[in-house]
Amino acid sequence: MQNPLPEKEVTCKCGHSFITRKEKSWCEKCCRGVFYHRKDRRFDVFQKYYTLTMILVILGFIIFTFVGFFGKPLFS
Ligand SMILES: [Zn+2]
Repeated sequence: MQNPLPEKEVTCKCGHSFITRKEKSWCEKCCRGVFYHRKDRRFDVFQKYYTLTMILVILGFIIFTFVGFFGKPLFS
């Protein structure tokens, strides 16, 4: 659930400005995504790396447990 945002004028990279209340909206002129907060794009990248790291950690843990279960430790 997203809290309603106050109306704000955002400017697309193509120079088109419009009023939006959404975190991410689409430019009517060039159909590119325009963010309400400029930091959001960077946060998206951070979230992507965070998710990737978590998947690798969980995967590593599963492999470690799996190998340990069959009595074939990786580091022996
Ligand atoms: Zn645009």
